Amino acid sequence: MTTAAVIAGNAYDVALENFDSAADALELSPDIREMIKYPERILTVTVPVRMDDGHIHRFEAHRVQHSTVRGPAKGGIRFHPQVTLDEVKALATWMTWKCAVVNIPFGGGKGGVTCDPKHMSQGELEHMTRRYTSAILPLIGPQQDIPAPDVYTNPQTMAWIMDTYSMTKGYPIPGVVTGKPISLGGSLGRNEATGRGVFYTIQSACEHLHLTLKGATVVVQGFGNAGSIAAQLLHEAGAKVIAVSDSTGCVYNRNGLDIPGLMHLKALTGKVEGFPDSEAISPRELLTLPCDILVPAALENTIDGGNASGVTAKIVAEAANGPLTPAADRILERKGSFIIPDILCNAGGVTVSYFEWVQDEQHLFWEAQDVYNRLERVMKTAFRDVLKIHTERKVPMRIAANMLGVGRVAEAVQIRGIYP
Ligand code: NAD
Repeated sequence: MTTAAVIAGNAYDVALENFDSAADALELSPDIREMIKYPERILTVTVPVRMDDGHIHRFEAHRVQHSTVRGPAKGGIRFHPQVTLDEVKALATWMTWKCAVVNIPFGGGKGGVTCDPKHMSQGELEHMTRRYTSAILPLIGPQQDIPAPDVYTNPQTMAWIMDTYSMTKGYPIPGVVTGKPISLGGSLGRNEATGRGVFYTIQSACEHLHLTLKGATVVVQGFGNAGSIAAQLLHEAGAKVIAVSDSTGCVYNRNGLDIPGLMHLKALTGKVEGFPDSEAISPRELLTLPCDILVPAALENTIDGGNASGVTAKIVAEAANGPLTPAADRILERKGSFIIPDILCNAGGVTVSYFEWVQDEQHLFWEAQDVYNRLERVMKTAFRDVLKIHTERKVPMRIAANMLGVGRVAEAVQIRGIYP
């Protein structure tokens, strides 16, 4: 097993630890804890695909519904070589609390296919996506479980899922997935929603800490959908994004990188490496650069007990899911960093997914500015709600966010009771 697989494996332990801390602080009864802690449904499937060279490759894939207490399960689908069932369970668990933190009527789910999309053709990806969709068909649906994009899946992937699902039903059902292309019932503003939500929570954190965003220095780890949009909005707001990384390399300019230029290069070459007017640095150097705001926007557990002590950022905005291990959390807490926890920080994506689903269900579409205004309201309200628990109960922001999310799910399950 590779190191990365070991790391991914314990993301679920982290998710359970997060839950226990919140449940302890809320003094939840053992009965309620048992009812809401574990996934409701887990499906593991085999996905056979005839590859371009003629051989049949078997992919392992999962769909986990952690909770449907407050509404249909909601959560992305990840295509990555290190996907494991434990990782999918962790991500599904976080989705439950995340939807509750921003108070949208969804539960939590997640899916994943263990594959290496960077080494697959479009045709192979399409066949794999369609076969995976048909394998999880009994679980998904606009009122049951609504997938969305995650790492290495995108609007095209969602279009294939929507088409496969609709063909089996005999009529178009856009509400089965979110993050779709606009032409298929996607929402304006969905593509940039996660990064935009990250930006709104950073604005709120700066206000709380009396830090001026204009001129603040920013480091972004991971320059994909979430990281690049957050970097772009921070750049537009006058912050200085001094370093950025992706899986191929890290680029640094202490006077600030030209983010629109970097986005252009990434779109052209798929890499940030080699960006003019920047110097290459190592991933470790990137995390320990002196800066005001650090945005981890790659994968889980990238900041751990080994590298956290070098982090000097005043604000750590978790655009990624679970980027800090509990050891890193404790170190940064001691050092006085203000952490915007993932289930709050990156909830903009699922919030606009909810807006997309509402628009699909109503067959009535909103303008982009309307989406941004509603998103800003939801994110800033959630930030205020979490901050209130953080200051009143004197608990770290992560525990405060989990207390808000877990508390809302616990309340719903108590009111619903047990069937039969
Ligand atoms: P993406 O595939 O668009 O981008 C991921 C980026 O991370 C890529 O640029 C990749 O090169 C980079 N990367 C991978 N490993 C890295 C490493 N070790 N160091 C530096 N960079 C690395 O994915 P995304 O949608 O932006 O998701 C990123 C994170 O945000 C994930 O944790 C995901 O779960 C989370 N997230 C995404 C959304 C969304 O709507 N996209 C919503 C909520 C949370």
